Amino acid sequence: MIDGKAAAAAITAGIAERVAAEGVRPGLAVVLVGDDPASAVYVRNKSRTAERCGFHSVQHTLPADTSEADLLALVDTLNTDPAVHGILVQLPLPSHLDASRVIAAIDPDKDVDGLHIVNAGRLAVGDPDAIVPCTPLGAMHLIEDVRGEDLSGLRAVVVGRSRLVGLPAALLLTKRNATVTIAHSRTRDLERLCAGADILVAAIGRPEMLKGAAIKPGATVIDVGINRIDDPSAAKGTRLVGDVAFAEAAHAGAITPVPGGVGPMTIAMLMRNTLDAALKAARR
Ligand code: NDP
Repeated sequence: MIDGKAAAAAITAGIAERVAAEGVRPGLAVVLVGDDPASAVYVRNKSRTAERCGFHSVQHTLPADTSEADLLALVDTLNTDPAVHGILVQLPLPSHLDASRVIAAIDPDKDVDGLHIVNAGRLAVGDPDAIVPCTPLGAMHLIEDVRGEDLSGLRAVVVGRSRLVGLPAALLLTKRNATVTIAHSRTRDLERLCAGADILVAAIGRPEMLKGAAIKPGATVIDVGINRIDDPSAAKGTRLVGDVAFAEAAHAGAITPVPGGVGPMTIAMLMRNTLDAALKAARR
C-alpha cells in the first residue's frame, strides 16, 4: 500500500521548513466561483495547507452568477499583486464561464495548477521552467518512491488522456525513460494492454473499472480516480472508490488507496509549485 497521506505530510513539512529557513513568503490565491460543495472542500483544504506551510494564503469566494468580466478582472489584479505567486481558479466553473479563457488570463509564471497553454507547451518540449499539473506530479513522486527515478526498461500504461492528468502523466513517465502507452475510451482490448504494464496509472473517472485481470503481478498501480458510489452500510450512504477494483489488486507490487493516495499528494504538489514560483520571482 502506497501511503500518499504520509508522503504528502513529509513534503509539506519540508516546505514549511524551507519557507522558514529561506525567508520567503509564498503567496497562494485560490478563487472559488459558486457553491459546489466538493469544490468548497477542495478549496478549504488547499488554503489550510498553505497556511500550515507558512504561506500568505488568500481565498476569493465569488457568487455563482459572477460575470466573466468580473472574474477576469480579479485574475488581472492577482497577476499584478507582488504578494501572490500562485493563482488557482477552482474547476469546474459555472457553465456560463469559459474555463479556457479564464486559465489563459492567468500569468503563466503564477499558474501553479500548470493548466496554462504555455506551461503545457513547456512540459511537452522539456523546458525546465514548466509548471507541471499537481496531480500527475504527485503521482510521479509516488512512482519514484517505489521504482526510483530512472524507469528505463519499464512499460507504463496511462489510462486517460486529459490535459489535467493523463497527458502530463504520460509525458513525465516518458521523461523518466519509461516506455509509455496512452489508453482512452477508444482503446481496444484495454484489459490486455494494462496487464502488460509494470506501471499502471488509472485516470478515468469510472468506479472500479479496472479489475484484477488488468493488473500485472508486481505492478505499481497509481489510482488517480475519485468516484463517489452508493454504499448503504456507510454512515453517509456513499463512499469514495478509485478507478481500480482495489479488493482485486492484492497481486500488485504497490498500489495507492482511494482516498489517501494521489489526492493528498496533489495538494502537496500545489504547495511545491507555489514555493518554486515564489523562489523564481525572488530571483527575477
Ligand atoms: P477526464 O474526464 O477529463 O478524462 C477521463 C479520461 O478517461 C479520458 O481521456 C477518457 O477517454 C478516459 N476514459 C473514459 N472512459 C473510458 C473507458 N471506458 N476506457 C478507457 N478510457 C476511458 O477526467 P480527469 O482526467 O480530469 O480525471 C480522471 C479521474 O481522476 C476522475 O475520477 C477525477 O475525479 C480524478 N482526479 C483526481 C485528482 C486527485 O487529486 N486525486 C485530481 C484530478 C482528477 P477519452 O479521452 O477518449 O474521452
